[in-house]
Amino acid sequence: MSQLTDPFGRRIEYVRISVTDRCDLRCFYCMPKGFHDFEEPENWLSFDEITRVIGAFAELGVRRARITGGEPLVRHDLPQLAAQLAALPGIEDLSLSTNAVQLERHAAELHRAGVTRLNVSLDTLDGERFHTITGGGRLDKVLAGLMAAKQAGFAPVKINMVVMKGVNDDEVEAMVDFCIEHDFTLRFIETMPMGDTGRDAANRYVDLREVRERLERRYTLLPGVMPGGGPANYMRVAGTELRIGFITPISQHFCETCNRVRLSVDGTLYMCLGQEHAFELRPLLRAGADAEALKAAILEAIALKPARHEFTEKPSQVMRFMSKTGG
Ligand code: SAM
Ligand code: SF4
Repeated sequence: MSQLTDPFGRRIEYVRISVTDRCDLRCFYCMPKGFHDFEEPENWLSFDEITRVIGAFAELGVRRARITGGEPLVRHDLPQLAAQLAALPGIEDLSLSTNAVQLERHAAELHRAGVTRLNVSLDTLDGERFHTITGGGRLDKVLAGLMAAKQAGFAPVKINMVVMKGVNDDEVEAMVDFCIEHDFTLRFIETMPMGDTGRDAANRYVDLREVRERLERRYTLLPGVMPGGGPANYMRVAGTELRIGFITPISQHFCETCNRVRLSVDGTLYMCLGQEHAFELRPLLRAGADAEALKAAILEAIALKPARHEFTEKPSQVMRFMSKTGG
């Protein structure tokens, strides 16, 4: 069991690792068009440095890690990092969040490397809309990636859909049907005011309680559970295997059960998506810190974890984009 407990008594059991802040898409709610202010490559943690950090977390009892970004598949040789992390004693669950644009090529290798679970962002099933939302992306590539993931043996594959008024809120039923057909798990997400782009998108915010009511008119939703310990409230669609998760950071925040921290590509540990509390590990890593020193630093960092985000009270507080923190 994790030995990491924050000042509010929450056990930290999960680390999300942003392996890059770059991306081959420009989802309008996440990253501004033409954005170039990326981290310099010399500041990127190397695969060995990431492995040292996650190794220290594992020694402190953390069992779960997720690779994310930015778009993790734009980082060269990602399966090699996955293999290094999966091989760490103690790490039992290694997952990946991706936009799936390059997944067709990498799915089988990632599965062999030890990634067991996949989350794929997909906000629409309409090619033109996809192109607009993502700033030029091709839906056919994502669909090919999803099918390759299924074939490679990933289970579950979870689809993440950010529901936005006037953008894709007319597609929730279509997405439910798509996920039933392909045996994917579906998670709806509320927009969060991260950076200017997120704040713009927050104008299109949809309260997911409304989405749920809408779905209840068409399907019978039963209480459901889903292994993974995430923040989603799950329902099962009667007569099918489909589980639907509702991630509601705004309408019903779940901070009191938060069990995670985030490592950014430059080696900063962020304690909360919606706050600036952070601890820089890169200087320690580059000074040759051993596992004991890293564990001490992690304990110091966890002591900084704030009680909750303040997206509603202070929506302009978080300047960094989701892609930097590792969404
Ligand atoms: N590129 C990968 C992807 O798209 O899945 C991983 C990183 S992405 C930042 C992780 C998740 O954050 C995606 O599901 C995306 O939809 C979500 N996200 C990004 N900006 C957001 C925002 N402002 N509000 C809510 N979710 C957001
Ligand atoms: Fe890229 Fe993911 Fe952000 Fe879209 S949500 S711009 S795919 S990092």
